[in-house]
Amino acid sequence: MFAFQENPLNRHGDIRHTPDFISKVIDQAQTRFLPVFKQSIACTTQEDHKNPLWLSYDQLSTSFGEVNDKHLIYLGELDSKHYFTYRLKSAQLIDNIQKSLTHTKAKLCNLRDLLHYIDTKQAHLCNVAVAMEHWHNSHQYCGQCGSETYSTQAGFVRTCADSECQQLHFPRTDSAVICAITYEDKLLLGRQKNWPEKRYSVIAGFVEPGETLEQAVAREAYEETGLVLSTINYYQSQPWPFPQSLMVGFTAESATSDIKLRDQELEEARWFSKNQINTAINNGSLVLPFEYSISRTLINQWLTK
Ligand SMILES: [Zn+2]
Repeated sequence: MFAFQENPLNRHGDIRHTPDFISKVIDQAQTRFLPVFKQSIACTTQEDHKNPLWLSYDQLSTSFGEVNDKHLIYLGELDSKHYFTYRLKSAQLIDNIQKSLTHTKAKLCNLRDLLHYIDTKQAHLCNVAVAMEHWHNSHQYCGQCGSETYSTQAGFVRTCADSECQQLHFPRTDSAVICAITYEDKLLLGRQKNWPEKRYSVIAGFVEPGETLEQAVAREAYEETGLVLSTINYYQSQPWPFPQSLMVGFTAESATSDIKLRDQELEEARWFSKNQINTAINNGSLVLPFEYSISRTLINQWLTK
């Protein structure tokens, strides 16, 4: 199981835009709020563990004096409790939380690090929180007229502040395809120049306007490696909030085996047998992708087939 596959959250998308609903759930004592700043999440840290730092409304207002409603994003309801994220204007504001919570060590943590410590429910909440925070941060101005935008509808719309424009902006994700390409009994792995040393992965790339997902797989494979694919099959998908992708996974067979790095996106690509991969992992000459990623899962699925 790779990260973000479970969706235990009732987002109440049909009623979250109503102020009555939002103020009612904010007032509930068990409702919790997670401060986030850009791609980082407020966490409690102990020696060998990290947890998202969910605050009550009282703790939130004690930390910041005043809670700015425009910084709240409604995440949803899970196990009869409602969850919000709270957008911090600067990383230094984590100190305010630390001052008000004397028995807790508060810190901003990267979601990738946090995934090692949290369960699937918490991972999903944190995934939505950082994805929404990133969208807000990168859509502070209207793409139509350039005026400022402000958060509305519990954080799921940004509205242009210009009285004539009033354009509504909705959360966006970037579609990317990722594909385990095989030829006979071998798997294609490649690496980009800027990746950590010895890291190899399967082929991936963003979908361009006007193409289907399968066409994007075929194009990326050809551009990056010169391979012509004969079959392309959908596998599964993974929301990937680093910062705002939806990874759509495929498996494919190549009709050809000659590799040519056409677009220079990869510095190297080659065919690996299962034995070669296992040996290379064991002797430290090959490092596979992040364990919670769909790329790692695609490789593992092939290895254990
Ligand atoms: Zn506008």
